[in-house]
Order: sequence, then C-alpha cells, then structure tokens
Amino acid sequence: MDHVDTEVRPSNFIRNIIDDDLDSGKHSQVHTRFPPEPNGFLHIGHAKSICLNFGIAKDYQGKCNLRFDDTNPEKEDINYVKSIQEDVKWLGFQWEGDVRYSSNYFDQLHQYAVELINKGLAYVCFLNADETREYRGTLKEPGKNSPYRDTSPEENLALFEKMRKGEFKEGECALRAKIDMASSFMCMRDPVIYRIRFAEHHQTGDKWCIYPMYDFTHCISDAIENITHSLCTLEFQDNRRVYDWILDNLDDFQKPDRTRQYEFSRFNLEYTLMSKRKLNDLVERKIVTGWDDPRMPTIAALRRRGYTPASIREFCERIGVTKVDNLIEVGMLNACIREDLNENAPRAMAVLEPIKVIIENYEQAQVEMLSAPAHPNKEELGVRELPFGRELYIDAADFREEANKKYKRLVLGKEVRLRNAYVIKAERCDKDDAGNVTTVYCTYDPETLGKNPADGRKVKGVIHWVEATHAKPAEFRIYNSLFTDANPAAAESIDDVINPDSLEIKYGVVEPSLVNAVAEKAYQFEREGYFCADSKDSSADHLVFNLTVALRDTFAG
Ligand code: ATP
Ligand code: MG
Repeated sequence: MDHVDTEVRPSNFIRNIIDDDLDSGKHSQVHTRFPPEPNGFLHIGHAKSICLNFGIAKDYQGKCNLRFDDTNPEKEDINYVKSIQEDVKWLGFQWEGDVRYSSNYFDQLHQYAVELINKGLAYVCFLNADETREYRGTLKEPGKNSPYRDTSPEENLALFEKMRKGEFKEGECALRAKIDMASSFMCMRDPVIYRIRFAEHHQTGDKWCIYPMYDFTHCISDAIENITHSLCTLEFQDNRRVYDWILDNLDDFQKPDRTRQYEFSRFNLEYTLMSKRKLNDLVERKIVTGWDDPRMPTIAALRRRGYTPASIREFCERIGVTKVDNLIEVGMLNACIREDLNENAPRAMAVLEPIKVIIENYEQAQVEMLSAPAHPNKEELGVRELPFGRELYIDAADFREEANKKYKRLVLGKEVRLRNAYVIKAERCDKDDAGNVTTVYCTYDPETLGKNPADGRKVKGVIHWVEATHAKPAEFRIYNSLFTDANPAAAESIDDVINPDSLEIKYGVVEPSLVNAVAEKAYQFEREGYFCADSKDSSADHLVFNLTVALRDTFAG
C-alpha cells in the first residue's frame, strides 16, 4: 500500500481509508476540499484542516478544492473571502482550478430541492419556531409529524415557488426534507433545507431570498465537484445521515464512487479561543486591535507575529489526526516555531531595557566597524556591519554592582565579553535618585577582539550590546497569552479570564542593520528572543518589533 511517494508521514485513520479506497479501485484519484465559511479570519484550527485536506491531495497526487461555504449571507463578508485565500496560499497550498463557492450552485441546489419535492420527499412547513421545536421531540421522545407533511407535491411546488419569489415573510415557512420524525438522530427529524432570508449576498447580490441550509448544500456541493473524501470535524458525525440521505435520493448522484464524509476531532489549543464567532466578539469589543492582532490565534496574526508557514505545517503534522478530543499545550506550537527559527533566523542585537556603558579607555568620537555573522552556523546568510565605540547600551539586567558566581554578566570589578566584540571590565557606576543604575564606566582590552585574553584570564560571561551613536530606538511588543485560563471557552464569561497583561511594551534600541528588517521576518535578538518588524506599525522612523516567541518557555503552558 504505497500510494504516498513523498517523505514518510505517520499514517492516520483517514489515510488508511484512502489507501483502502485506492487499493479496491473505488477511486483512482483522491479529491478533497477545504470548505470555510467566509464569516471570519481563519485560525490555527483551520490550519489543521487545511494541512489535512491539501496535504492529502499533495501526497496522493490528487486535488483539493477551496470552496467557500457561503449560505449565511448576513454573517459573511467579501473581506473574509479575500483573507482566507491569502492565508491558504501563505500556508503554502494551491487549490485546484478556480476558487469555488457553494453559491455557484444555487441554481442547481434549487433544482435538486424541486426534485425532492416532486418525489414527495420535501415539503413547505408553516409551523413557527416554537411549534417546530415542540414537534421535534427530545432525545428521549420521538417527534410528531408536522401537519404540513402530507401536502401534495404539486401544492409544495407552488408554495416553494412563492417562497422563491419573496411572497412569504422571513420565518413564515421553510422547506423541510421528509425523513423521519422518530429517528434517534435529531438531525434526521425533517431538517430544514431552505429558509427565507431577505439578505443581499456577497456573490449573488439580491438574486435570492431563499437560501439552502448547510446540510443540504454541503453534500450536493461535494458531489457536484466529485469530491471523494469529505473530511470534517466530529460535530458533523450525526449529520452524516442527512448527507447520505440527500444524495441517496437525488438521481444525479447514484454512483458507487460517490463522495463520503469522514469525521476527525477538532483541535483545541490551551489558552486560546477557537471559534470565529468568539474571536469576532474580541474584535468587535476592541479587546484586541483586529483579527490580525498578534495575540489572536488567526493565521493572519501568526504571520504578523513572525511565524513561518513551515512551522505551522510541522505543528499540524505533530498534532496528528484522530477522533479523540484534545487540548494541545501551547508549548508544542512554540517548540515548532522555535526549532525553525533557531535553524533559520538571522541573529541581531537589541537592548530592551537600556543602560549606558562608557568605555573610558576607548578614544573619544571614534567608531570602528566590526563585522558579525548573521547566523552562527549558516555562512550563506552572510555578515553584518556592527559599529563599536566609546558609548554603548547594555540591558539593565546584565549589570550588578555585586553578584555571586552564578551571575555570568557584568559585575563591578569583573570582566565580561561583549558579544562579537571585546572584553570589558566594570570600574564604577552612576545611579539616579531612585537608586537605579544609569551608567556603567568600564575599560576594555583592545587585544580581545575575537580572541581570549593573552594572559590566560578566563572570561565566562557574554552579553549583548548596541553602540550608542548608531543605535536605533525601537518599540518592543511582548505578548503573553490573551487568557488566564487554559480553557477559556469553558469560562462563564470571557471577561473573567482575559489576561490584563497580554501586551507589554518596552522601549529600547536595536543595532542599525535592523532599519532594513523585513516585516514579518523573524530575527533572533541574541539572548532576548525571536522578534520581527511589525507589518502595520513599523517604519524606518519608528521601529516596532513583535515578539514571535521567547527563547524558551517560562511557564508550563
Ligand atoms: P468556527 O467555529 O471557528 O467558525 P467552523 O468549523 O464553523 O469553525 P468553517 O469555516 O466552517 O469553521 O470551517 C472550515 C473547515 O475547517 C471545516 O471543515 C471545519 O471542520 C474545519 N475546522 C474548523 N475549526 C477546526 C478545528 N479547531 N480543528 C480542526 N478543524 C477545524
Ligand atoms: Mg461554521
């Protein structure tokens, strides 16, 4: 069973099903689809579905469609249609042919509804919402048949046509499939398949005032597009009965290689909300600055924060595909991006909480150009120029007047190496009225550029620095998780679990080469973390860097 000829991937139950279908000759080519509803930006949960659907198509040399499942015109928006396409491409995938829309099939869907009516398998029902609920029954009790259930096909056709022409009010009636009011699956109790909505649609304008429901639309759209394996999340498990019932009853789809639905578990991430509706709420209430606020779990936010497509694909690979509910640790996502950036991100120096260092034995007004590799073991990334002079900035946390041996940084009377430069020794310091150190006066050993002191003195500590006259001021945005609870979706109110410290801003300096930092491309700021220039707010006059990920996890999450 070797249909996958790219790198070896761990198998999963879906791949096993596909292998069987190819072996048995049921299908000769795999055709999947990714079917987002354009009612928000895609989040990392969608990335799992994208990687699964497009990944399978790629590995099996099949095809994957991108189809907007756009049957709720009030909640949808053309901007979401655009952002979703960008995100899929950015993740590294290309859909088969043109982008598709369920709304492309509104005419056909209408025809198929007419076919069901003609077959006596659908009827226009005038029960109001309360009555419909009452007739539906409960999990313990069967439902009752609607009094409209036995209307003749002719009459139903006429009523459905009146619905289409806008002659009924919203909610006055709906078209229902005639399935089984006693079914143990609630979704089989005569589900609504068409409802009235006087809403303008982003694709079809005001052509329609009746819109098909998800359960009716999805299976038919899959079948029209010759999808072989329709992969969705477990909440649709029961709906698979409706999916099959509808296709079973339409003449066009009576073929053995017809599409089948398979369900896998939704993926959840700790400290993260994963629902477009809830994320939209955060945006509308201005708890975040937008869908791409770097604290959001959207693909757009992860991109803005400096995540790479490869790291997200790798993460989706590691979490795997199962039918078991899961809440994945944030540390797992962090590990993926960190591994990628450790390997590939250029290095640079930034001081987030600067204090001054003055090297008293270094000539006034002299600045020399040192050079430093962009990456410790990737020569191909080249070198950068690093100005060095009499006045530098170092981080406040890297100096102490006295400290024990564990503190391998700058201490009065002791030496430390400046990364990519010389060894310096702290002689004395100035403090402000509050007792905070403002300036450390040092001497340097000119014989220690790129080599150890000649007399064999050992200098263990290394700290980073930025030369003062060439330093560029920069704003650093340090992100913490947006929620204080590992499972914010379970909170009674989101307000109870919002982390007031999810954004911390620091003002410091960066080395001058970072004026040219490309937005969204992360650097390792040595000893500080991975950061990238912000795509919206950073400019040469006002540099803004986002924390992509810390160098290591500081908390269990
Ligand atoms: P949300 O509740 O966030 O809006 P959704 O499932 O309603 O999610 P859709 O736009 O309908 O969003 O989803 C498109 C596809 O992405 C579906 O096949 C859906 O099953 C899948 N998907 C959405 N969220 C997740 C998740 N957390 N894990 C795995 N797949 C997901
Ligand atoms: Mg949805």
